[in-house]
Amino acid sequence: MLLSISQAGPAATDLGYLLHKNPANLHTADVPSGVARVFYSEATPERCTAHLLLEVSPIELVRGAQQLEDYVNDRPYVASSYVTVALGRVFGTALGGICQRRPELVQQRLPLTLTVEVIRARGGADVLRRLFAPLGYEVEIQQLPLDEKFPEWGESRYFRLVLRIDGTVHDALTHLYVLLPVLDEEKHYYIGDDEVNKLLRHGEGWLASHPEQKLIVSRYLKRRSSLMDQAFARLHDEGSAPVDAVEPAALLEKDLERPLTLHTQRLNLVAKRLKELGAKQVLDLGCGEGKLLRRLLADRAFTRIAGMDVSHRSLETAAARLRLDQMAARQRARIELFQGSLLYRDQRLAGFDAAALVEVIEHLDPPRLAAMERAIFEFARPKHLLVTTPNREYNILFPTLPPDRLRHNDHRFEWTRAEFADWANRMAVRFGYQVTVEPVGPLDEVHGAPSQMAVFSLPQEAGA
Ligand code: SAH
Repeated sequence: MLLSISQAGPAATDLGYLLHKNPANLHTADVPSGVARVFYSEATPERCTAHLLLEVSPIELVRGAQQLEDYVNDRPYVASSYVTVALGRVFGTALGGICQRRPELVQQRLPLTLTVEVIRARGGADVLRRLFAPLGYEVEIQQLPLDEKFPEWGESRYFRLVLRIDGTVHDALTHLYVLLPVLDEEKHYYIGDDEVNKLLRHGEGWLASHPEQKLIVSRYLKRRSSLMDQAFARLHDEGSAPVDAVEPAALLEKDLERPLTLHTQRLNLVAKRLKELGAKQVLDLGCGEGKLLRRLLADRAFTRIAGMDVSHRSLETAAARLRLDQMAARQRARIELFQGSLLYRDQRLAGFDAAALVEVIEHLDPPRLAAMERAIFEFARPKHLLVTTPNREYNILFPTLPPDRLRHNDHRFEWTRAEFADWANRMAVRFGYQVTVEPVGPLDEVHGAPSQMAVFSLPQEAGA
């Protein structure tokens, strides 16, 4: 298996820094499937070419083989998910976007050529093109003959793939890392929850807007529907722009100027409204990993900030992200985190100017929602309560979300604008609040905004 990366001049040997591999040496690393070697065939200011050669050990290949045909396969020769694992091992630093010696190089677009000597592409040349062209590559594909000596035998199922781009080495590596196993499909390693994280981490900045996103996600995750749901939900919700086909040029621009994600817009809006309401003591209900808390901490107007969640793990992550243990004493005194539940009356939840429920209620099934309503509106009774939840009508604008699917596999419901307004009005009447409902995120004329927020307030005299 041979993959090469070539940079053209004027300072082509920068490639050595970017890949963290000195062109003068041969680099060898053990990988689970065998041995990976990196070497350079040329290293001049005009042109520098690094090769990744993966020698798959036959023992690895027959491990677990049951029948004769299992022993005979093309794994050692074609680029596949084995290469992906090797890429992660030998170019891990570069894949992470790190260049210790020359950090300024990471963002630099360079004239690059990537060559995969032999690749088996499920779906053929067409799929190769559909995957790489939208990312801005000039794609050259050569279908390999079955046997060069006997052209009359016809073409094989294998291709030689050459990709050219003015791009960053980091982006090129992330594209290969995600797309090689997508082409190969026979992903040999265990597919677990972490695969979703890997896919989203390496797909950051390009997967959310790739026109073949659906194909990429479903093949990468081997069509495991629960993992695919997670990936699509996170791509849509935390992801960026609408997922339409994007011109390569637009893609590059978009990378530089990434729009705020929906979740960021939502959190910023909640923090802004809390400030406008004059709230000083704020409780974040279902605070998760503490993204809203961080915004509140940054503003001195909030004197007492509390985060509550049922999940210990989320609270630990929140504490670590907020660096509670390193916080100066005065700052530390402003914030508390505690475990609790929305479903039970709890003294600790009482006495706040305002509380937030950001993307939480849709995780509660009807009996829990009913319990939450009393525990929060009736017993905790903050002066103001901000509730956000997805707008289901908008889902149709996510082209890769199948009809009747919700954005997250833990969502128990997603409400239309009318359903949310109806719930909000019922709560206001029942518990003596005033309420307004507003859209969150970019407005579509027909389907509204992707998310929605209700702001409940106790009438002045009662709240004062
Ligand atoms: N508000 C955060 C997290 C939203 S995810 C944000 O916007 O980033 C939903 C959160 O609600 C999760 O952290 C989950 O642990 C929490 N949650 C779900 N049911 C809960 C319950 N019954 N009591 C308290 N928290 C709950």
